[in-house]
Amino acid sequence: MSDPGAAAAAQIIDGKVYAEGVRAEVAAEVTRLKSEHGLQPGLAVVLVGDDPASQIYVRSKGEQSLAAGMHSVTHRLPEATTQDELLRLVAELNADPAIHGILVQLPLPKHLDEKQVLAILDPEKDVDGLTMVNAGRLASGLPGLYPCTPLGSMILLREAVGELAGKRAVVVGRSMLVGRPIAQLLLQADCTVTIAHSRTGDLPAVCREAEILVAAVGRPRMIRGDWIRPGAAVIDVGINRVPFDDPEKAAQGKTKVVGDVHFKEAREVAGWITPVPGGVGLMTVAVLLQNTVTAAKRIAGVS
Ligand code: NDP
Repeated sequence: MSDPGAAAAAQIIDGKVYAEGVRAEVAAEVTRLKSEHGLQPGLAVVLVGDDPASQIYVRSKGEQSLAAGMHSVTHRLPEATTQDELLRLVAELNADPAIHGILVQLPLPKHLDEKQVLAILDPEKDVDGLTMVNAGRLASGLPGLYPCTPLGSMILLREAVGELAGKRAVVVGRSMLVGRPIAQLLLQADCTVTIAHSRTGDLPAVCREAEILVAAVGRPRMIRGDWIRPGAAVIDVGINRVPFDDPEKAAQGKTKVVGDVHFKEAREVAGWITPVPGGVGLMTVAVLLQNTVTAAKRIAGVS
């Protein structure tokens, strides 16, 4: 990795540009699959309840899959949906030949058991990469459907940094959805990987070792500028809603989205950095479409 140095501001990794690139590739592949194989990849998204953030994500998934020429179905279930009803729907989608990708939007309402849902979800249609089978394939270095946000983060890293082999990477966060799979993907890319979490001692010192620093914590601006090694590539996965800095706006109850990294401080030190919003978040849906195309091709047995 070249070292742009601490004095220059970091290069911003623009998620919009790369997400557009992925979506364009997906749309072209969908067109080819339709014309050469009569195959239209289909995505089913299941939303239970009326969580406002989940509603926005689900709408965007539906709109973007349609825009890419895919078959797209959104099941909006009431908050009072029972476990049996949800499991029955997932079983129906498992058996539906027009559906190649199934995404059950998380978190589910508290009375529903996410583990049971993932246990019956067909791993070949698990485009969020959350089933045990796909987690096992990722951990074993086998082909599978991997989680979208980690895959999107890797695309950004490769585009910005280039060769990753031999780099020292630190991932802060060890969730099944983000931290662990990113660490696995970095390992597959031959990085030397440390996974940090809430019990890690001297986290700033651990972060300062990183040539690649991934923040997936869920704590606004926790990672400060002096935690960052000069020239490092910083991938900020965090999405946190906070009051505006401007006291007038804050008093009106207005909020904005920030990452887990203190962007202003970090960009003075890092070599590359993803903004929030406008970074990793935009990649997640684009990669979901890509995973659905991959699933459709595997299920249909076409290359
Ligand atoms: P989780 O809450 O599941 O995991 C958070 C992780 O951070 C845990 O491993 C936890 O450690 C660790 N952690 C918490 N506090 C600290 C601390 N003080 N020091 C060090 N580590 C700490 O969150 P997710 O992984 O689901 O999400 C992480 C962030 O990414 C959130 O902001 C979320 O909104 C965002 N996100 C963004 C997506 C996108 O598309 N950009 C998609 C999904 C998530 P421990 O295990 O010890 O508790």
